Amino acid sequence: MAGSTRSVVVLAGGVGGSRLVAGLAAVLDPDQLTVVVNTGDDFEHLGVWIQPDVDTVLYRLAGVQHPEHGWGRADATWAVMDAVADLDGPTWFRLGDQDLATSLLRSQWRHDGVPLGEIVTRLADRLGVAPTVLPMSEDVVATRIHTVDGADLAFQDWFVAHRAEPPVASLEFRGADVATAAPGVVEAIARADLVLLAPSNPFLSIDPIRAIDDIRDALHHRSGPTVAVSPIVGGRALKGPAAQLLADFGLEVSAVGVADHLGDLLTGFVLDEVDADRVADVTRRGMQAWATDTVMVDASAQRRLATWLLDTVGPEPS
Ligand code: GDP
Ligand code: CA
Repeated sequence: MAGSTRSVVVLAGGVGGSRLVAGLAAVLDPDQLTVVVNTGDDFEHLGVWIQPDVDTVLYRLAGVQHPEHGWGRADATWAVMDAVADLDGPTWFRLGDQDLATSLLRSQWRHDGVPLGEIVTRLADRLGVAPTVLPMSEDVVATRIHTVDGADLAFQDWFVAHRAEPPVASLEFRGADVATAAPGVVEAIARADLVLLAPSNPFLSIDPIRAIDDIRDALHHRSGPTVAVSPIVGGRALKGPAAQLLADFGLEVSAVGVADHLGDLLTGFVLDEVDADRVADVTRRGMQAWATDTVMVDASAQRRLATWLLDTVGPEPS
């Protein structure tokens, strides 16, 4: 394996996070890879506990994710949703039958008092996922959206029911101030040769993770490289509201705006090759910067970026 990189921790949300993680899983041994997943999107719906980003990461690592949607499974059928609709129940949040089975099991275990980290491990095992996947915390941390119009919306209400349209004044990670990292997270960050921030939404996927005190401290106190991959390519998000939130928060709508936002955590930042002309602007902010093709259209592109990262941004060979 490349350089002296023996262990890698990735901070991840759903789509962008799972793509990079899948690439790394293809080129690392399972015991070299730990994924810390955002749980700020988690919520209870139809009586079950849903963890969208955890499931997206698990499904992609298991190879059962839907090829086009950013969520759900390739084999999804909709018998339960259709029956819920027939009963005039809520259908604004779509859950396929197989997805619902995951959430039912998770809810039963949660009801039985099984810690969340253990629940994710059990699901990973049963899905055949070998790398370590950890929720950021076992405590409930709920992303809330405070809109410019003064509404205080639950994340999924804003994102799905309101299609992420209401302009955002600020975000709140409710519960983060008293939450602690899930078992294994701080230790993994402390011993990692390389910490990668996946090309995930910096505000909705990375910020909730670093809002937890002991995770933030572990990131600040480590000595090896901490490198982010930009989710903004050519001034746009490939998917989702990252560009819109940069604008709402008065940041430059570009990879450089992302580097500015995440800056104090990072030793390095990877821009897409279409933004190669901005590398010097990031370097000027006091971190290393590189440009390469970051758009992971398929498994081979995921693997290529993962290999490039391990060869290029990891610690110097000792
Ligand atoms: P979510 O939780 O499902 O919204 O997903 P994430 O937060 O993990 O990722 C969303 C971000 O990933 C969006 O801003 C996308 O622009 C970015 N993204 C998705 N796929 C890719 C990719 O292949 N390359 C890069 N550079 N960014 C990506
Ligand atoms: Ca998410």
